[in-house]
Amino acid sequence: MIPVTKPFLPKEDEFKEYLDSIWERQWLTNNGPLLNDLELKLKQYLNVNHMLYVCNGTFALQLAIKALNLTGEIITTPFSYVATTSSIVWEGCKPVYVDIDSETFNIDPTKIEAAITPNTSAILATHVYGNPCDIDAIQAIADKHGLKVIYDAAHCFGTQYKNKSVFDYGDISTTSFHATKLFHTIEGGAVFTRDPDLLKKMQYIRNFGHSTPDSFAGLGVNGKNCEFHAAMGLCNLKYVDEILKRRKLLSLHYYERLGKIKGSFPKLNKDQDYNYAYFPVLFETEELRKRCTEKLELSQVFCRRYFSPSLSTLPYVDPVAMPVCEDIANRIVCLPLYHTLTLPDLDMICRVILRTQNYADVSPVATDNFGILVTDKIATEINDLNAINKPNTPM
Ligand SMILES: *Cc1c(COP(=O)(O)O)cnc(C)c1O
Repeated sequence: MIPVTKPFLPKEDEFKEYLDSIWERQWLTNNGPLLNDLELKLKQYLNVNHMLYVCNGTFALQLAIKALNLTGEIITTPFSYVATTSSIVWEGCKPVYVDIDSETFNIDPTKIEAAITPNTSAILATHVYGNPCDIDAIQAIADKHGLKVIYDAAHCFGTQYKNKSVFDYGDISTTSFHATKLFHTIEGGAVFTRDPDLLKKMQYIRNFGHSTPDSFAGLGVNGKNCEFHAAMGLCNLKYVDEILKRRKLLSLHYYERLGKIKGSFPKLNKDQDYNYAYFPVLFETEELRKRCTEKLELSQVFCRRYFSPSLSTLPYVDPVAMPVCEDIANRIVCLPLYHTLTLPDLDMICRVILRTQNYADVSPVATDNFGILVTDKIATEINDLNAINKPNTPM
């Protein structure tokens, strides 16, 4: 069985070593040494000043909305995981949807201003599949109208935008370290900000509002994470460069083999170093998407429709037509992409798709969606991967 994703697991011995140290210290949670170490190492790896490790990516979104005191309407994307919208509603705000760009599948900045009202307090946008939004356009609109910006960067571990971590943009960026994500801590998430005051506020909200053991700075809840999850993060962080490279290589092979259906991949922001978190394919028609996924399931390949349905159709929001998003949601599928996916399996997946589409063979000169010849890139990537020289990556 080939699922859309499989969680990365480090060597068991490495995790057990951390478990032994937890047993020795008997310190399980509440800002323990492993958690502090993970926060420090993540900040170094990502080259960011401020981040807080929290219990999950959904709580990170709620924390961001709470810490910015957002009220009224929040402009958001209908094309994301449900947590993007549900956190807005959970925090007592109203999601106001702006349709997505038909090429990037990120919120369309040219449509944002028309959705702003006197009640708008913020823009909450998702960098879909780890591919950054039009950050400059969104920030310009926010500045002009005095709005806050939150990015749901749950897919973005390792993505750089203009040579900085994409987590460094917006008033607050949030991410998820759930087991299905590129870098994970089983369950977990984080908030990032450049504002030290916001950081302090989120710090006390995460810990019941405590400023010291006996005093409270304000209202808080329990958003902490624990030593066991931090231990998994410390193990996985050692492999993250290898994970990023492997996903890039697998994605390039997909581009090469699916070259004949090119044009059906999201357009990538050119100002970034992409993390290849997902491999989405936009089929020409909904019928073809159905036929391909059914054929794949017969071969025990299980894709996921990230993201369907359009969040604007959720039962707890005011329904509104989002034609671009609804169309894309009907035609999109994410193909399997995970560290241990083998090239023969990837070949099989591509053959099933191409056969279903009646393409006899694969274009020998496929380009990726940066327009770069894939064969050249693959050769470079294989050399780079060999240079890392980590064991046990099945090809
Ligand atoms: C995974 C995900 C979340 C939720 O993260 P959890 O850690 O599972 O709570 C939020 N937004 C997006 C876009 C996601 O993909």
